[in-house]
Amino acid sequence: MIYDLLIIGSGPAGMGAAIYAVRAGLKAAVIDRSPVSGGQVQSTYEVDNYLGLPGLSGGDLSDRFRQHTDRLGVQFITADVCGIESGAGQQAVYTVHTDQSDFQARTIILATGASHSLLGVPGEKELMGMGVSYCATCDGAFYRNSTVAVVGGGDVAVEDAIFLAGICKKVYLVHRRDRLRAAESLQKRLLSLENVEVLWNSEVKEIVGGEMVEGISVYDNKNKQQLQLEVEGVFIAVGIVPDTDIFRGLVDMDEKGYVIADETCVTSRKGIFAAGDIRKKAMRQIITAVADGANAVHSAHEFLNAEKI
Ligand code: NAP
Repeated sequence: MIYDLLIIGSGPAGMGAAIYAVRAGLKAAVIDRSPVSGGQVQSTYEVDNYLGLPGLSGGDLSDRFRQHTDRLGVQFITADVCGIESGAGQQAVYTVHTDQSDFQARTIILATGASHSLLGVPGEKELMGMGVSYCATCDGAFYRNSTVAVVGGGDVAVEDAIFLAGICKKVYLVHRRDRLRAAESLQKRLLSLENVEVLWNSEVKEIVGGEMVEGISVYDNKNKQQLQLEVEGVFIAVGIVPDTDIFRGLVDMDEKGYVIADETCVTSRKGIFAAGDIRKKAMRQIITAVADGANAVHSAHEFLNAEKI
């Protein structure tokens, strides 16, 4: 069988695309390596900026998205995509290779999202899972009444610090600049918490420990001081990298690996569209990812009509 559209990734962009595809009458399916939909949203403590659904946990919001797609009969395929091959000819059909089997489609939406970046300091890789974590909502409960550090100054770092402040005795937020990048409302909440201390202009230079994390070495760039802090956990939230390695050579990307496409989600390759966090853009939010999903389907539909497929 040849699909009109295959959507790779079941985060907000992929699921947003799915409902538009089904409603447009396209023969479509969503492929994701995980049977649990939601992508990065799954591990978000609380989402307060998605229109109409304030204050839901990321898990609950993902469940709502999935209930919606299930209600419309969206087909989900659990498989790990390892590559895409383009067929020859006028009405080219793409083959999506996965660890399960191959699938064919006339158009594809790439919506694989992004993963956390590494901090890149000594001790990080060695102590991963032994006190070094990238997901406060997943691992925070292990640090009840402990002292932990969060590294970063974006939405994720600040959300993580707020979440951990409700569980831990003390939370250090270590940020390399004198200003946070996170949304103003999050900053206000963070700075009102008594058990959070922000270390401004500071960089983690090393994570120390034997079998488990015991502390961090922090350098204060302004006061030119080295600090040793005793912490049992380090939560790293220093941004994201797009999950686009398997699409290298297929579509044009920027130097960081984001797929180059404007709001139409049209990529450099005919019939392939990019939606959500993998697209080169200014605002990476759940709401903009969902919007990308709708735009990508609109473009795919136009492409199919123009090609008279
Ligand atoms: P981000 O916004 O890119 O922030 C990364 C933070 O880490 C920045 O404060 C940055 O510092 C710092 N950083 C980067 N590299 C570092 C290094 N080597 N050492 C120390 N600090 C470093 O990333 P994010 O917070 O993971 O968020 C990712 C995207 O998801 C963002 O676009 C965010 O807005 C979005 N998001 C959306 C929602 C939502 O829709 N509700 C929720 C969470 C996240 P500088 O500030 O100095 O650059």
